[in-house]
Amino acid sequence: MEELLRKIPQMDKLLQHLVLEGLRTKIGHEPVKTMAQIYLEGLRGRVRAGAPMETLDQIAEGIEQLIAKREQPYLRRVLNATGIALHTNLGRAPLPSAALQAVLDTACGYCDLEYDLEKGQRGSRSRMVELLSQICGCESAMAVNNNAAALLLAASTLAKGKNVVISRGELVEIGDSFRVPEILEQSGAALREVGATNKTHLRDYQKALEQGNVGMVLKVHTSNFQVVGFTKTVSAQELAPLCHQWEIPLVVDLGSGLILGKENSPISQEPTLPEMLEAEADVVCFSGDKLLGGPQAGILAGRRELISNMSKNPLARALRLDKMTLAALEATLRLYESPQRALTEIPVLASLNASPEKLRRQAEELLELLKRENLTGELVPHQRPVGGGSAPGKWLDGWAVALHLEEGLTPEKAAACLRQGEPPVVARIHQGKLLLDVAALLPGETILLAKACGKALKGDKEG
Ligand SMILES: *Cc1c(COP(=O)(O)O)cnc(C)c1O
Repeated sequence: MEELLRKIPQMDKLLQHLVLEGLRTKIGHEPVKTMAQIYLEGLRGRVRAGAPMETLDQIAEGIEQLIAKREQPYLRRVLNATGIALHTNLGRAPLPSAALQAVLDTACGYCDLEYDLEKGQRGSRSRMVELLSQICGCESAMAVNNNAAALLLAASTLAKGKNVVISRGELVEIGDSFRVPEILEQSGAALREVGATNKTHLRDYQKALEQGNVGMVLKVHTSNFQVVGFTKTVSAQELAPLCHQWEIPLVVDLGSGLILGKENSPISQEPTLPEMLEAEADVVCFSGDKLLGGPQAGILAGRRELISNMSKNPLARALRLDKMTLAALEATLRLYESPQRALTEIPVLASLNASPEKLRRQAEELLELLKRENLTGELVPHQRPVGGGSAPGKWLDGWAVALHLEEGLTPEKAAACLRQGEPPVVARIHQGKLLLDVAALLPGETILLAKACGKALKGDKEG
């Protein structure tokens, strides 16, 4: 053992290896030396544990790989082959190109974020209110960091020191560590829960309002689960007249932010913003990066006076959007001026609206491209969820390629290789098969996906 360990090369000699010389010129002597020390430490450990000694070339290559790995950004582009358009772990909505362009145009230089170009003096960063209200079809609107922030701001403004009336069936948890009751408590409001988990009646709300000291009534869209069987919920339509009678604002947390009407909606059971406004909810809040298809944001749309009070709350400053998000959000919203444009140019909506026939052609194309990488597979029909806490229980029809794997390669192992490839690919394992669903691929990604699969599963043949 000690014999073997003595074969580990001297640092000076190692650093003269051609590969490491090159790296030293590129990134400097010290960083290479540090990484070499880290690598050799690891090697000593491996050898002590019984691994064979490496050659000088192998060691140099190992250090090169270690450096490459360290240089990789923490946030990387991945290819989404799960078919899930709103994958919460993959950054939710990819931005429309118009939004990206807007970010580039404004954020790379100076912009008139808080400057009135006409008057040559300080201006307001909330000019977008008009566009937002117009697109949302409401009196007024504002945007904050995300929907959780929107809810916090609404409760803090309308119900601090008072009660928020909410159905027990709507005390939901959404994704990691976001629970509606916990957010509400942070606002300084107390919860007054009504009804039971499966059933809430209008008279339950009535009783809660009769007890007094209510700041707002909140209705939360149960966006990521369904309750079936012996159930009863009170719709916003039924609830609004009661709230108005008591002069208490009705706030609806819509979750996913479908702002087009039902006729243009890819998923018919999801409630829409126009419906909620028509039901006379006083404020509706929703995410910018779910079905809206834009950047992370939380939008509050509703009555002028209430929105104005929220924008004056000191919390609004802490929750406000930065210029990049404002630029991306504005450009995304402008696409909605023509529903047709929104449906084709917003990636999330385009993906959800893609017909099974179109997806089949795309999967066929992928299969062909995979052949060039010496990979084979077969077309399989595949149903995908919408994701991102939208339309629970709804599955959309589409197509995937089921990859044929080499002997001894399990789908789990292959999926791990794909994830660690360049670019990383996130695939789906279903019924013992490794599936590549094409529905959430962006234009131009089909060929990248085939190449990435070739590289990860067949080794890099082109170098
Ligand atoms: C997703 C969701 C939220 C949280 O939205 P973020 O934008 O992620 O903060 C809140 N409420 C509902 C109903 C949701 O679906």
